[in-house]
Amino acid sequence: MAHVDRQAWDVVVVGAGGAGLRAAIEAREAGMRTAVICKSLFGKAHTVMAEGGIAASMGNANEHDNWQVHFRDTMRGGKFLNQWRMAELHAREAPDRVWELETWGALFDRTADGRISQRNFGGHEYPRLAHVGDRTGLELIRTLQQKIVSLQQEDEKEFGAHDARLKVFQECTVTRVLKTDGRVSGAFCYERESGRFFVLEAPAVVLATGGIGKSFKVTSNSWEYTGDGHALALLAGAPLINMEFVQFHPTGMVWPPSVKGILVTESVRGDGGVLRNSDGKRFMFDYIPDVFKEKYAQTEDEGDRWYEDPDRNRRPPELLPRDEVARAINAEVKAGRGSPHGGVYLDVSTRMPAEVIKRRLPSMHHQFKELADVDITAEPMEVGPTCHYVMGGVDVDPDTAAATGVPGLFAAGEVAGGMHGSNRLGGNSLSDLLVFGRRAGLHAAEYAASLTDRPVPDPLQIDTAEAEALRPFSAEDTADGADGGRVPAENPYSLHQELQQAMNDLVGIIRKEGEMFEALKRLADLRVRARRAGVEGHRQYNPGWHLSLDLRNMLLVSECVARAALEREESRGGHTRDDHPAMDRHWRQINLVCELADPQGDSRAADPALGQIRLSRRENPPIRRDLLELFEKDELAKYLTDEELSR
Ligand code: FAD
Repeated sequence: MAHVDRQAWDVVVVGAGGAGLRAAIEAREAGMRTAVICKSLFGKAHTVMAEGGIAASMGNANEHDNWQVHFRDTMRGGKFLNQWRMAELHAREAPDRVWELETWGALFDRTADGRISQRNFGGHEYPRLAHVGDRTGLELIRTLQQKIVSLQQEDEKEFGAHDARLKVFQECTVTRVLKTDGRVSGAFCYERESGRFFVLEAPAVVLATGGIGKSFKVTSNSWEYTGDGHALALLAGAPLINMEFVQFHPTGMVWPPSVKGILVTESVRGDGGVLRNSDGKRFMFDYIPDVFKEKYAQTEDEGDRWYEDPDRNRRPPELLPRDEVARAINAEVKAGRGSPHGGVYLDVSTRMPAEVIKRRLPSMHHQFKELADVDITAEPMEVGPTCHYVMGGVDVDPDTAAATGVPGLFAAGEVAGGMHGSNRLGGNSLSDLLVFGRRAGLHAAEYAASLTDRPVPDPLQIDTAEAEALRPFSAEDTADGADGGRVPAENPYSLHQELQQAMNDLVGIIRKEGEMFEALKRLADLRVRARRAGVEGHRQYNPGWHLSLDLRNMLLVSECVARAALEREESRGGHTRDDHPAMDRHWRQINLVCELADPQGDSRAADPALGQIRLSRRENPPIRRDLLELFEKDELAKYLTDEELSR
């Protein structure tokens, strides 16, 4: 094997979105030499696309808000399946993380008296989202980047090199987390531009790679969301939890086809946008589930009054949690009351004057004008559900973000599981990134500093990782057919399309047992064919090669989603079973855990009944008493079993 360049660091952070950058800042401030590695250009992570805002109970727009109310809303949104300690830490620490951003230079929109403005979002009892128009993620990343540059300037002064203690490897991809004697020892990487392989040696690796949406056909997610961190964790021996819970955002663009799935921010509804079907009916009033009946307006008048007087009226049902709204839209379209292009109408033009819409929702105004020739200040948008966020992820310790079972591995942000239970509330991701990104960086630094001996990557493992990465270049030569003849290589783009179609059609927003069996069959077939995914040409900027490598990750993660969705025989949050439509209190006690079945190889991979993933059930830890006391007993009775309540 060719020589592979090796560099030693204390902490390696995989991902330069909100979670990764916040982790890197913390690790560097704790004195650790920290490397950040990301697939795209520095500053172009998915977080940049976040529009609506960061949820934090600062109480600027309503003084009744506090961390306990935020905790309650988050647990309700997640239908009580959340890792409660994560939800507690998140609610308690989010305001400090937002204020900290301000001290680092973030410029949030202001209230009339000069405080950080906060806007309404689905499932949040009070206006809670700190925002910068509808470009909040951009400001968040800009601020974190600026902080990183300022730390690098300090290092330039002290060591004469700006990247002495904090270096960004942009447009580079990690394909394996390396382990030595059971502990993390580094990451195997390639540079996308040159195809050059290299190893970042480090005893601590933080996964901050975001989500999995590119396994689905209609998605708001960008090309980077191929579930890499989820797969890297599995391959390193760390389990994933809650993978059946995938959030379909209710409002993606449905027309024209080339932009189908692109997000229409929830801020449109937060700022008063209403949903109507083809009969002109505001249909969400027909879809308020029993668990939320007392909290939502029952008439249009009351819902409309809430925008002016939230203390004396209940919120309109357009602001129900996302899973409820997405299912309602799906049902309206199925019942033949959809818009011409298979969505429903979302209208903000009758709520606010044109100048206010342009000021509060500038990106949405631009997006619809440019992409669909629709002027949202004068006419409704057509919208429908789009795959948006994965609640499931790496099983982590709530306080330290350490991944279960693999010393030295940490995870934060969308790649980590537990925090959002079965459904995430809008705005709770950006706050999650900051709260747990910081914790992951801190504890990764502490872990690295505490070691007396550092595990060194094994050359054999590096050779194996290199051979795995090079396989697509020799797929055609090595593939043997059943009759002993040659089999042509598979086209990675066709495999990807087939995977997306299967996940969309068979494990999408509404799921059925038979369809998920069919999905597992198709995944098994795709897995076998993906081993023969082949590319031509060389390693320099070869997107077909990159996709061939990403397919391994998407197939692993998709199997986790399908297997867990088949196992959970109830409907809850981002998991709706047509054949088990009710939420079942007994299932709330259960987390589904996915692990790699055969860490040494893929002997089971071709068999749909077996596959690559082993699924097990784990009991959800009981919620701490003082946190339970934040809820009325009547409400708890909707989620907890009688036995749990009596305890
Ligand atoms: P990301 O920001 O996606 O960063 C992932 C990083 O990992 C990237 O740098 C990527 O290059 C890197 N990476 C991935 N794989 C590898 C690999 N193998 N090797 C090296 N690097 C790798 N949430 C809110 O709270 N409020 C909102 O208003 C909001 N609006 C949204 C709008 C849109 C359109 C979308 C799609 C999402 C929105 N969300 C919002 C959700 C939120 O933006 C994401 O959940 C969040 O940004 C994820 O951040 P992250 O740090 O976990 O990952």
